[in-house]
Amino acid sequence: MLNVNEFSSAKIQLFFQLTKLYLLFRIILHSSLFTLHFFPYLCTMKTAIIGGGAAGFFLAINLKERIPEMQVTIFERSRRVLAKVEISGGGRCNCTNSFAGVTNLKQVYPRGHRLMKRLMHEFDHRAAYEWFERHGVPLVTQDDECVFPFSQDSHTIINCFLREANRLGISVQREHRINSLDELADFDFVCVTTGGSPRREGLAWLEAVGHEIEQPCPSLFTFQINDEALHELMGTVAETATVQIPGTKFRASGPLLITHWGLSGPAILKLSSYAARHLAERNYQETVSVNWLSQNEEQVRAELTVFAREHEAKLVASLNPFGLSSRLWLYLVEKVGMGISRWAEILPTSGRGLNRLVNLLTNDTYIISGRGVNKDEFVTCGGVSLSSVYPSTLESRIYPQSQGTSSPRLFFAGEVLDIDGITGGFNFQAAWTTAYVVAKSIAAESLNVKQFSC
Ligand SMILES: Cc1cc2nc3c(=O)[nH]c(=O)nc-3n(C[C@H](O)[C@H](O)[C@H](O)COP(=O)(O)OP(=O)(O)OC[C@H]3O[C@@H](n4cnc5c(N)ncnc54)[C@H](O)[C@@H]3O)c2cc1C
Repeated sequence: MLNVNEFSSAKIQLFFQLTKLYLLFRIILHSSLFTLHFFPYLCTMKTAIIGGGAAGFFLAINLKERIPEMQVTIFERSRRVLAKVEISGGGRCNCTNSFAGVTNLKQVYPRGHRLMKRLMHEFDHRAAYEWFERHGVPLVTQDDECVFPFSQDSHTIINCFLREANRLGISVQREHRINSLDELADFDFVCVTTGGSPRREGLAWLEAVGHEIEQPCPSLFTFQINDEALHELMGTVAETATVQIPGTKFRASGPLLITHWGLSGPAILKLSSYAARHLAERNYQETVSVNWLSQNEEQVRAELTVFAREHEAKLVASLNPFGLSSRLWLYLVEKVGMGISRWAEILPTSGRGLNRLVNLLTNDTYIISGRGVNKDEFVTCGGVSLSSVYPSTLESRIYPQSQGTSSPRLFFAGEVLDIDGITGGFNFQAAWTTAYVVAKSIAAESLNVKQFSC
């Protein structure tokens, strides 16, 4: 039998034990990680991703990897997911770039470079490279700094995404178009990864709830030029050309390809990206100036003079000092009326031809009559304005507050945002970076919400 003193000390001890247990229980219950891992049924959260493209899948996988209990559903309007990944890079998928030689992101992201600079601290090209290799997609960097799957086949990336989505239990609803955010009222988080929309109407449902839209227009296109003599040079490449739109700051350098409809190649695609909005505003009626050598007038004049002195008796058409293709050289020489001239005739002392040839080599102008029909590398300039999202999370600043509710929370990733890059893997890098940041933001938010509500 306990005496009175022993009985009250046992009671005190029991009280302390129970208090300790209660406090431990409260700490455990309020630990969101514990709740998430051991009581997922208490507070399962749901994320809807609108668009089963590059950004949508990358976002879904990264979110599920962080929060396995999150229910993640991708809604894709068409029967095929990842359709652009499949055709990208000529079926090889140029999935990122080494960024070697990129000194300012504005060089590669004409729209969105400031935001990309900020977000790439979270997930850059090195992180993307590492991510793909860790998920079973070995990559290779080409001499031109473009990164491709080692298999040289975009299906390696598609298979990786589908396998991971399946393994992680991500639901993929094909042929399910979302027309309004109201359809997703049951979800806690909604991510818009619907890609570029070249027509503003495609973004009307986002504009209707208050988001600002930067007028969409195409980027990365070739130039249609109605010049039959030029078309005859189809397939000719000038390796180091500079193209510019006279009277503007828009200029780009790189290989220039002559096609049966006009001008193409990296230099033109880059210029079309830099000047995308300018050209759209002019309905693709503009002048383009070609510097076939990327050298200034003085350099070209000096080289021509030296060359002419050395080869006075030879025909200008038959000898070309700059390593241009002989077809292109002949075309240029004939254009300045020197098809049958000898090099001696262009010397300054003879007063003929030098200025015309220098001018043509450094400032050969053509009238652009439209956008090329080739859609090999087509992205949208414009989209959801970056002023409508918080820069560190990519969450909408507008929705759901504009509707007077508190959920679902809305995020954006990929080309639907007003971010676009030149060719070379920069557009996919933007998709990976923005999708990663959204996945991370939602994961952090979901932990906060659970801590509050569980
Ligand atoms: C021919 C071609 C080649 C390219 N090659 C390269 C390359 O090599 N390297 C590179 O970096 N970039 C390349 N790009 C650009 C790159 O493909 C895009 O920038 C990238 O796919 C954007 O990813 P995204 O997920 O934002 O959009 P998308 O990949 O376009 O995906 C958006 C998805 O959303 C779906 N969707 C749209 N609206 C709805 C809706 N309301 N409801 C449900 N689903 C919807 C669409 O059907 C689509 O599947 C290429 C583009 C083209 C056209």
